[in-house]
Amino acid sequence: MRPPEEYYCTNCGGTNITVEAHCYWDNVKQDFADFEAAAEGWDNCADCGHDGADFRPITDVKTLAQIAIEREEAREKALVEAKAGLKQKLEPFGIVVSKKEEANEARA
Ligand SMILES: [Zn+2]
Repeated sequence: MRPPEEYYCTNCGGTNITVEAHCYWDNVKQDFADFEAAAEGWDNCADCGHDGADFRPITDVKTLAQIAIEREEAREKALVEAKAGLKQKLEPFGIVVSKKEEANEARA
């Protein structure tokens, strides 16, 4: 996995950047969704008003730790959801996904 980066102002170094993007109306969500940064769009720094930003590696240890924790939590959540989905799909066929897993969950 690529090391985490942040988007920063090339003038003042701040990260309070607004980026020009395109999005679409989602009838189901009833909200704008699917944001895509405009390829040749503008970037504007809310701190100094400069137009222009770039990526740089994140070196702050606390931020890196927070990113690692949030990624791990998201991965665990996705795994639990995938397992529940698989279980639901297989149960009508009388297939039990894993009794060992259920025993582990009951013990926890
Ligand atoms: Zn700036």
